[in-house]
Amino acid sequence: MTKPNLILLAFDASPILTLMERTLNAANFDVALAGDQAGLNKSLQEVIPALVILGRKFAGGDGLAISKEVLERFPTLPIILYAETDDPELARQALRMGLSDYLSPPLKVDDISNSVNRSLARARQLGDWVRREVKRTTSSLAEKAKMSESERTKLEAIINNIQDGVIVLDDQRKILLVNRSIRAIFNLGAQTLIGKSLDQIIANADVLALLARSSENPLKYHEINFDDGKVYNAQYTPIPKVGAAITMQDISYLKELDRLKNDFVHTVSHDLRSPLTAILGYTELIGRTGPLNENQLEFLHRLQGSVQHITVLINDLLDLGRLEAGFDTRREMVHLDTVLKSTLDMVELQARKKKIKITTKVDPGLKPLRANPVRIRQMLDNLVSNAVKYTQDEGTVKVSLLMRDGQIVLQVEDDGPGIPPEEQSRVFDKFYRATNMADNESVEGSGLGLAIVKSIVESHQGRVWVESTLGSGSTFFAILPTEEEN
Ligand code: ADP
Repeated sequence: MTKPNLILLAFDASPILTLMERTLNAANFDVALAGDQAGLNKSLQEVIPALVILGRKFAGGDGLAISKEVLERFPTLPIILYAETDDPELARQALRMGLSDYLSPPLKVDDISNSVNRSLARARQLGDWVRREVKRTTSSLAEKAKMSESERTKLEAIINNIQDGVIVLDDQRKILLVNRSIRAIFNLGAQTLIGKSLDQIIANADVLALLARSSENPLKYHEINFDDGKVYNAQYTPIPKVGAAITMQDISYLKELDRLKNDFVHTVSHDLRSPLTAILGYTELIGRTGPLNENQLEFLHRLQGSVQHITVLINDLLDLGRLEAGFDTRREMVHLDTVLKSTLDMVELQARKKKIKITTKVDPGLKPLRANPVRIRQMLDNLVSNAVKYTQDEGTVKVSLLMRDGQIVLQVEDDGPGIPPEEQSRVFDKFYRATNMADNESVEGSGLGLAIVKSIVESHQGRVWVESTLGSGSTFFAILPTEEEN
């Protein structure tokens, strides 16, 4: 507690002490006396005086050193040093140390009161300045805090009102923020979520798969399916120094459109099959109705080729429709190495024509797969025949079947033209044909083969992707989990 009218005298008993006491009393100050250093410290602990006058020599101690200690504890306390003999060097030293004034004999009453009043006035000014500065800094800090608080509220309002779901996680995968859409999507109500880990709150298997995948190879599109048929597309984006954000958009209407389109394609393909069979049948009969000239025979031949081409396309479309509708439920133990042999027999002629060398590598511990043998054959046929089809003459194709962590890893590698990076994820789309071949037109195809491969692999709970460098070749990977792994 500060006492504004109290002056503390730290002096050895002497006539000058009496003079000072009297002068200060007359000027209406309260005066307290400290007999020794312990007394001085005790007084300062109990109340802080408005000013201290200290003897150069006090209770056997050095007044200057004592002043230094007091100033360290109370930097704004005015201290006047009194020396029995005038010493200009001491005066300079005292003032440099931050003492308010220096007195020495001969001393008049006015000298004492003037020095005290001057010191007190300066201390008051200093106190006022310190208070003003503290107020100014505090109010500017408060202003800044108010601003960042309002920015935060604004940001929160924006994120909360966004239609897409937004989750922000810290680097420990603990929730930092979720918006209203996320609460609605996952039926989370008003429970507190901040600080909890995401997998503790959300049990959806697709979300957990997204989290598991995120660290190694985050996908641009990740579908999150719900039991009520809703489908969301989710993205996982790492945010430096924060953690990550997951955003989710409702794509149920796109899925529904896709389903309608597939149904349409399936129905049309189905209806086209019968007339095509009839056309093919009749083209075969024409030859038996009488002799045909050379031109007629060639046209007939071309007609049959085109009809067969359309039939293959339609069969592919029907296949895809069946796979996508989930009708592929046939499962038996399939040995992939045996299936691979049949595939190699099928492509042998074409490979020989193009002088392409095909090598195989099969893990001796390869496990059988519970799968549909017809579909697995179709998958291998498509991948291996693509490698042969797109690789230039005298190229090389390597096929390997390996076991990794209880999963079968199929790799079909070629040293063909490669696929441009931006097209690598699209080659699995229906009807997509990449721009990698200048004369792609000359290589026959419908753009359905890899879409069928993807559907087959996914219906066997696997994953398929391609790694490729333009100009040096492509490797298609398919990972198929075996029984044990499930
Ligand atoms: P298709 O072969 O009938 O065109 P796919 O769906 O099998 O259809 O393949 C889609 C596209 O992917 C092909 O048009 C081709 O551009 C590209 N592609 C597939 N396999 C390879 C490969 N091994 N090397 C280079 N490009 C390939």
